[in-house]
Amino acid sequence: MQFPDSLAHLIQFDYPLAPHLWLGIGGPARYYAEPTSRGELIDLVRWAAQQSIPVRVLGGGSNLIARESGVDGLVISMGAGPLCELSTEGSRLTAGGGAKLSHVVTHAVGAGLAGLEHLLGIPGTVGGALVSNAGAGGRDIGSVTEQIEILSRDGVVRSISGDEAQFSHRRSDLCGDVILSATFRLEKSDLESLTKRMQKLWITRNSSQLSGVSRIAMPFVDPDGATAQRLIADIGLAGTREGGASISADRPNLLVASETATSNDCLRLIERVREQVLLQTGIDLQSNLQIW
Ligand SMILES: Cc1cc2nc3c(=O)[nH]c(=O)nc-3n(C[C@H](O)[C@H](O)[C@H](O)COP(=O)(O)OP(=O)(O)OC[C@H]3O[C@@H](n4cnc5c(N)ncnc54)[C@H](O)[C@@H]3O)c2cc1C
Repeated sequence: MQFPDSLAHLIQFDYPLAPHLWLGIGGPARYYAEPTSRGELIDLVRWAAQQSIPVRVLGGGSNLIARESGVDGLVISMGAGPLCELSTEGSRLTAGGGAKLSHVVTHAVGAGLAGLEHLLGIPGTVGGALVSNAGAGGRDIGSVTEQIEILSRDGVVRSISGDEAQFSHRRSDLCGDVILSATFRLEKSDLESLTKRMQKLWITRNSSQLSGVSRIAMPFVDPDGATAQRLIADIGLAGTREGGASISADRPNLLVASETATSNDCLRLIERVREQVLLQTGIDLQSNLQIW
């Protein structure tokens, strides 16, 4: 494979993805790059398109399972500073696709802008959150998204409206393009009461977190009128195992990968739980995770 001189220094080969994923497992990426500017990111995507190399974008890695066989393509990390910038203008906040959700929320609250605080404590980045229309407490990121700047797989930058992204419950039409940035339409609010509200949300969120457990993922989307956690607990599958993967006994909507877990263990366990829930309740749980 020939790399242009301007990009060769960015590309790493057979790069281990596991340390970048919340589950901590999975195979390597054939090619991996962490562009340090928007220009480099665009050049990489254009080059990959010319070479017919599939591109995948890595955000915080909190909603991903990579198979043991790895990714036969180019994985691009959005972690560099210039891809994570935040700015506000009036009641609008614009965030780079790689910006951490936690930074976006605290920045908005610090600027006295309400509308994103319910995302506090959700791991990941703006790009990942938009793809899955992340949310909590009945409010999702799509509801305040005004505009999204995307880079198509053939390297063209364009803006689409929040409506065009077709947000629905934990879904969007955004899978496939690179999310460069998003602009959120927020509401001016009193700083003191907004900060108190954020603190309360943080306490509630923390009280429902699993303490001392890492290597976790949230495998299922809550269906209408129920929670995956309750459905799984009710049919007695909390704590169930497959190889090194288990469903948390305390928070059955979380998948936990032990040191010995493989991605295959996780995928088999998710499928078994889904089948059992369908069989016993008639509800077909939808996957929350992207599988690479
Ligand atoms: C403990 C825990 C708690 C969670 N709680 C919640 C919750 O309360 N509510 C909720 O909705 N979700 C929750 N999640 C799921 C997850 O945190 C969200 O879906 C999160 O927004 C994913 O963001 P990420 O950056 O980690 O995405 P990643 O896992 O890195 O990627 C997920 C998908 O998004 C794509 N993607 C990422 N960045 C970009 C980009 N810039 N451009 C294009 N595509 C991109 C990836 O290619 C991949 O397809 C939870 C997960 C965990 C592990």
